[in-house]
Amino acid sequence: MKVRDRLSLQFTLMFAILLLIVLAGIYLLENNNREISFYQKLEGRALVAGELYLAQDNMSIQSFKEVLKEYPQTLPGEHIRIYNDRYQPVFIKEDTLHWPTSLIQKVTQKKKVFFSRGKEQVVGIYYVDNSGDFVIIASATDEGGRENLGKLAWIMFFSYLCSLFITFFLGRIFARIALRPITNTIDNVKIIRATSLNKRLPVSKLSDDEINQLSVTINTLLEHLEQSFNDQQAFITNASHELRTPLTSILGNAEISLKSERSPEEYKNTLLGIIKDTVRLNDILNSLFELAQVTINSPLEKIRLDELLWSVVDEVKEKYNKGGVITLDYNLPDDEKKITIQGNPSLLFIALGNILKNAVKFSGGKEVNCKMQCNANEVVISIIDSGIGINPGEFGKIFQPFYRSENARPFEGSGIGLPLAQKIIRLHNGRTEVLSEQNKGTEFKIILPV
Ligand code: ADP
Repeated sequence: MKVRDRLSLQFTLMFAILLLIVLAGIYLLENNNREISFYQKLEGRALVAGELYLAQDNMSIQSFKEVLKEYPQTLPGEHIRIYNDRYQPVFIKEDTLHWPTSLIQKVTQKKKVFFSRGKEQVVGIYYVDNSGDFVIIASATDEGGRENLGKLAWIMFFSYLCSLFITFFLGRIFARIALRPITNTIDNVKIIRATSLNKRLPVSKLSDDEINQLSVTINTLLEHLEQSFNDQQAFITNASHELRTPLTSILGNAEISLKSERSPEEYKNTLLGIIKDTVRLNDILNSLFELAQVTINSPLEKIRLDELLWSVVDEVKEKYNKGGVITLDYNLPDDEKKITIQGNPSLLFIALGNILKNAVKFSGGKEVNCKMQCNANEVVISIIDSGIGINPGEFGKIFQPFYRSENARPFEGSGIGLPLAQKIIRLHNGRTEVLSEQNKGTEFKIILPV
């Protein structure tokens, strides 16, 4: 069911319940008023009977006429009975209508009694006359009143149905007007395809309604989609470039050596070259696999970051920085908890190692400085070099797999180290920041929450 129909149905249902309560209230009130007014008429008729049979003798003709004028007409199905203080019917015979003695006693006690018997309403009054005390009981049916009430009920019923019908259709119109901005948004979103992810929905700066917020949210989502789409395309371009280089070299070497007869030494060199390129190809594919697979699935351990950084520096010094200088600059708190995090030490070792290896590699033997300091609830590790630097326009790109900047091409590498490091740091809820100037140096900050 469409939202428009659901809204108008809910609206109609709510209105139906409210209107039913109001109409039922009016009906009951009207019925109550009718009953009260009929009881009054009946009481008047009982009084007229009293005046007629009992008080005529001591009443002036004028006042008797006035009583008659007030309640002149016999009511439909009217029966009046008069009883003396011994509960015997007087003046009017009882016929088939017998009122029980208990009722006459009740009237004597309470002086006035009202009740209804089916459609019939009954009034009993205690009448005091100079000839004795009497009980007068009058009963009749309010046919006119009931008929009017019945008509009112029918009018109410038809107006109720018409109102519901009108409310449903008005509700649909209002729902359509209210939902028009959403249908417009849907139409706008429908025309956005993978090839037109740069399109955005119109948003108003003046309005802060939900529809505008929805458009802003969809635009943000589109921005992320466009970004990841572009990243994906960049990944394919960079990956094919990185994979093609060793493959072209393998193919070239093999073709050249097959062109003419070669000495065993030359064949050996060609094969060594092919092995080197294959190893590189294998390394690239392994790191790519590593990048896709890296997750923290082993139990987390407590890691002292100063110790970890120490061992990373040791390893890099030994394997990659023969002769170079890596300085360590710690500014540590007394409380070791402030430099201890929960994590996977092997993964963090790889992440810090990759960033430090880059610093060593791209600074060509110049000093590399590692700093560590603690903020309120995070540890900041900075790796600073004075190497080739990075163009600020490339800060976002260097974390894409296989991306290598132009000035880094003379150096060996595959463009996987940084994306892998960033993924590991993010798995530890950390983040990376880069500060760099070309030909001056680079500072990588690794910020980890403790
Ligand atoms: P690579 O195998 O090329 O080192 P990385 O993924 O580790 O790949 O780094 C991606 C790119 O980021 C590098 O090719 C280089 O352009 C840039 N880069 C990373 N670290 C540094 C650094 N310390 N100095 C200058 N450029 C760097």
